[in-house]
Amino acid sequence: MPAVTADTLALPRIAALPETGTTWRPVARVVTAHRQLEGEGFVVRRPFPGADLALADPFLLLDHMGAVEYAPGEAKGTPWHPHRGFETVTYMIDGAFEHQDTTGGGGLITDGATQWMTAGAGLQHIETPPEQLVVRGGLFHGVQLWVNLPAAQKWVPPRYQDIEAHDVALLASDDGASLIRVIAGELDWHAGPGVTYTPITYLHATVAPGSRLRLRWPPAFNALVYVLAGRGHAGVEDRPLDEGQLAVFGAGDAIVLRATVAQPLAARRGWEVLVLGGLPIREQVARYGPFVMNTREEIIQAVQDFQAGRMGTVPVARMPHRTSADEPAQPPDR
Ligand code: MN
Repeated sequence: MPAVTADTLALPRIAALPETGTTWRPVARVVTAHRQLEGEGFVVRRPFPGADLALADPFLLLDHMGAVEYAPGEAKGTPWHPHRGFETVTYMIDGAFEHQDTTGGGGLITDGATQWMTAGAGLQHIETPPEQLVVRGGLFHGVQLWVNLPAAQKWVPPRYQDIEAHDVALLASDDGASLIRVIAGELDWHAGPGVTYTPITYLHATVAPGSRLRLRWPPAFNALVYVLAGRGHAGVEDRPLDEGQLAVFGAGDAIVLRATVAQPLAARRGWEVLVLGGLPIREQVARYGPFVMNTREEIIQAVQDFQAGRMGTVPVARMPHRTSADEPAQPPDR
């Protein structure tokens, strides 16, 4: 159950959509996330990328971590690894993830907080559960989203935004039943705290059992809905959408979701969904593991820069994890 909750009756409500003149986006396809082993051996569910790389543009990757109740000694993170050419957005729904990087940045992302890291020209970082979670075990539930940068901004200096749980804009649906957390971008003229190079909207909604959530959506944005927990239906055609599934919407200016009345225990407050949209960049994408550039030559340069130590130096007083000397010559994905 998400750490950030609220009394929806006390929140500002988004405006109801007009009966006429609204073009509901159809569900173009439903994708079931595949399971993938990441970092030092934690399982993620990854709805994209899949076969069609352009499907999520401007988003590159979504990793759903947990929800998992770790036993003592079980929690794992990533070794030090580089990134270049895009932004990683880590949203911790429950639990905590610690972070450190080669520019001196770092901190704890915990219970509803988001860390927005613009890798830009490049750095190395490590993402790991805090020692207390490793020792004692506990609940861990989060997502990491990769947002692409257009060619003109791939070389910007690395930047961080630490978005605390209380910074997130909280709204209620038009019927007052469902909770909407605006992490980045805008919904119905309410802005979230995340600042992006590429215009996007990033929401986490808890749709009350049996309720509908109707959202006005910018026609120029794509529209993706990923289910964190629970079950419901997407679109006016009522396509079933369960935990671990992604709905990709077609063209239009609004989306509708409906939560099933009966929900599993993990979704007892409602159907937990991420709603994502952004302005497609529509540029050639060359990607190799943790580097996302426009051309093959830029990827070769990124690998050479990493191997030559031009993407930062792992600090001596680093976290008690593997050192860069243990790293494979080919960097891992995350
Ligand atoms: Mn990473």
